[in-house]
Amino acid sequence: MRAAVFYSPNNISLEERDHNYLSGDSQRGGVLVRMNACAVCGYDVNVYRNGHTKVRAPVVLGHEICGELVESPNISNSRTYLDDDVSKLDLVEGTRVVLSPVVPCLNCMYCDIGQYNLCINLGEIGSSVDGGFAEFVRIPNNTLRIGGLIPLPKSLTNEESTLIEPLACCLNGFKRINSFVNERLEDKTFVILGDGPIGLIHLQLAKYLYGAKVIVVGRVNHRLQAARKMGADFVIELEDNKDSPTCAIKEVLDLTDGKGTRLSIIATPNPDAFEVAAGIASKNSIINIFAGMPRHRSFQLDPNWVHYNQIALIGSFSATPQLIHESITLVTERRGINLSSIITHQCKLDEIYKALEITEEFLGLRVVINSF
Ligand SMILES: [Zn+2]
Ligand SMILES: [Zn+2]
Repeated sequence: MRAAVFYSPNNISLEERDHNYLSGDSQRGGVLVRMNACAVCGYDVNVYRNGHTKVRAPVVLGHEICGELVESPNISNSRTYLDDDVSKLDLVEGTRVVLSPVVPCLNCMYCDIGQYNLCINLGEIGSSVDGGFAEFVRIPNNTLRIGGLIPLPKSLTNEESTLIEPLACCLNGFKRINSFVNERLEDKTFVILGDGPIGLIHLQLAKYLYGAKVIVVGRVNHRLQAARKMGADFVIELEDNKDSPTCAIKEVLDLTDGKGTRLSIIATPNPDAFEVAAGIASKNSIINIFAGMPRHRSFQLDPNWVHYNQIALIGSFSATPQLIHESITLVTERRGINLSSIITHQCKLDEIYKALEITEEFLGLRVVINSF
């Protein structure tokens, strides 16, 4: 099979892998999926350029996956961690699926309570286990055992289905926001810091689930125009200079009559975003750090500011299979969530370098590889 293998920063090699690789072995087990489409995430570009502590090279990257089962999974002999609804799902040869890239240990306190994304020995498809930038991907047993392979309705295209996984991650953030605050968000002015695909998915969810007034802050003009089309009430375009956090704070305060915002979502790896989020936070407000940041970056945080203003500073990471189910339902309803609008480019696997470059240079929104 054809695969794009990551070896080290700036070194991804397109190569053929032999058939033995596909047949799996007793240790790896799992089920084989033929790739239909795989989206290129900002994380993939970050790994390509800088490597990552989570990545065990050589490995095939790509975790936003839509494919088709090549064989029927056999998980009946081992204990499964599925609830009744999930275990009744029909998974047979030919079923079109999306997947949770989470490979949990099933042996830690977080796995015990179903928070597989927080597993202390977490593996991830496309990081520590081969992912979707290849003709086939083998899904590990532990992912199967938590219901991490989820059948797709016919109405969803392969391309939009790749974005179910990032949608589930954004939904995870909103669930955290709801449960943490445990009260109605009476002031529904939300600020999304970041104009990339993740920022725009947050925008769609904020509009659809909350009817929020949303301000999107970013640096890329065509992305901010896309945000407007998707319903952003205001967009703020920043220059790339050291004053830009101060400008962003001033503009948001101007737009909110000096009150600031009830919720900020950091959907950019730019660490300046935290300074902005702190500068625009109203009392009793929430800041969700959704994006991963470069290593060795830290922020100044005054505990008195958190205390006297009753600030909730939260993080959210990845998603559980349950959230992937909920995301499929959201997209299938065809009401407020339109993942196709986030996809601007389609490439062949042989064009992986081009796909990474489009993503890195912010030339569009999501690039999807849909020919292998
Ligand atoms: Zn991703
Ligand atoms: Zn675990």
